[in-house]
Amino acid sequence: MDSTMMDYPLTITTILRYGTTIFGDKEVVTCGGDESSRRRGYAAVGERAARLANALRELGVDGDQRVGTFMWNNAEHLEAYLAIPSMGAVLHTLNLRLAADQVGYIATHAADYAVIVDASLIPLFAKVLPLAQTIKHVIVSGAADAAALGTLEGPGHEVHSYESLLAAAAGSFDWPELDERSAAAMCYTSGTTGLPKGVAYSHRSSYLHSMAACTVNGLGVGEHDRIMPIVPQFHANAWGLPYAAMMSGADLVMPDRFMIPSVIVNLIETEKVTVGAGVPTIWQGVLAFLRASGGDISSLRTLICGGSALPESVMRAYRDEFGLTMTHAWGMTELSPLGSIAREPAGVTGEAVWPYRASQGRLFCGVEGRLSSDDGQILPSDGKAVGELECRGPWITGSYYQDSAPEKFHDGWLRTGDVGTLDAEGFVRLTDRAKDVIKSGGEWISSMELENLIMAHPAVAEAAVIGVPDEKWGERPLAAVVRAPGADPVTPDELRAYLSERIPRWQLPERWAFIDEVPKTSVGKFQKTTLRDRYASGSLEVTTLGALPH
Ligand code: ADP
Repeated sequence: MDSTMMDYPLTITTILRYGTTIFGDKEVVTCGGDESSRRRGYAAVGERAARLANALRELGVDGDQRVGTFMWNNAEHLEAYLAIPSMGAVLHTLNLRLAADQVGYIATHAADYAVIVDASLIPLFAKVLPLAQTIKHVIVSGAADAAALGTLEGPGHEVHSYESLLAAAAGSFDWPELDERSAAAMCYTSGTTGLPKGVAYSHRSSYLHSMAACTVNGLGVGEHDRIMPIVPQFHANAWGLPYAAMMSGADLVMPDRFMIPSVIVNLIETEKVTVGAGVPTIWQGVLAFLRASGGDISSLRTLICGGSALPESVMRAYRDEFGLTMTHAWGMTELSPLGSIAREPAGVTGEAVWPYRASQGRLFCGVEGRLSSDDGQILPSDGKAVGELECRGPWITGSYYQDSAPEKFHDGWLRTGDVGTLDAEGFVRLTDRAKDVIKSGGEWISSMELENLIMAHPAVAEAAVIGVPDEKWGERPLAAVVRAPGADPVTPDELRAYLSERIPRWQLPERWAFIDEVPKTSVGKFQKTTLRDRYASGSLEVTTLGALPH
């Protein structure tokens, strides 16, 4: 029997219309650094999105051309998020932290036709442009002097001013009816292994993902919230927060290029931010700043944290020192990105909350998960069996853009590359990424667990653990530690003694290195490849303690 329900497409256009009319008096605030913040109501954002669509149409965007953005988190980027998909084109957020040749590769692979660039990023983009031949129009947002603009000149493309284009365009646009399955936006994975791969989100997947983000069991954002996405809009849709804000009527507080702890704390104070979202290194930096310089973060309801494992010690510190609950979430670009979110089940109290909060969390309704063994057998979801997490669902990519990558899929499920357990209540507990796994004498050692334990030591600022070849055991963990500034210089023996109270003896690292900083990826995650290379080339100074019996 057919249903009687309307076949109404799920599109970004609906989010645009709803957010900019029903919540027309809500606002997006863009940090100005030393200058005052810029404020723009959602009604004005809607009108400017229409102007942008008209302007892009004038420049020849009349179908599914890719329109790139090379921008920080700000009001104009929000306008691009709304206008480009709603006019039927494809928003392509370019990661400005990548090397110029990588951005050039990505823009060319996606065949970007036009790109909107923040004026402050012209020096970076000028290096990309000669490597991205498909770009016909460069649109500069913000004030730029003639000299800077001159660096963008070249054959094959025109340079425009975003504000001039908008000023000359009409303030209403006849948004087309779109197929919900058509591409709305693209994002490339950061390519920690191999070349970056393109994920093309559909209108439908983005709509469903935004709805899931708004649910109470999801990110739970609503009209009472002022959300500050520190996670960049060029990285996995800023975790879906811009669309979730438009859908739910939450205000947005955008850091623009000022993503440093002092500015973040000042924004929280002055803009009365209720929800912040960023990777662990951001909130660790903010914590250190608050401890050293103070600050009023009492407006916060929660800090959402994902992108890499959030150490329990950080969560406890925010709870103990500021009465604030952090919300740990797991996801990936391929999942739009939300996959699971960590809150203790109803009725769990006291110390019992921590194993839940520190886990990667419970899978969203719409994200199905299972574990697979090395040889492709499906393992039980019993909280004990360890395997690679595989997912499927309506906002999970089923392929990559012009890249078949069969090794990334298993019978229609996405192989996440993350390794851990899944329990009957749907909680994911990751122990490793497939490529970070340490196998010692045939047994797994969790680099994440070791890192979290070492980082909980008061004299440690950061720690990354990698597996290194070992004659006897195949592989053993090496801990690269950044000492906390001002603390007594902790020794490998002390750290190992500290760990020995917490984990089995055979897992204790005997190799220790002290480093100035853990190398990070473009989005602030630990870049263990760099550490492995340094170890392999002998440029990492390693202290080896006497081995303990296995
Ligand atoms: P990349 O894989 O290139 O870093 P993503 O930004 O899509 O790109 O990262 C997704 C990966 O980040 C996940 O597969 C996982 O390894 C890691 N990750 C994300 N959130 C968490 C988390 N809460 N805990 C542990 N790892 C996480």
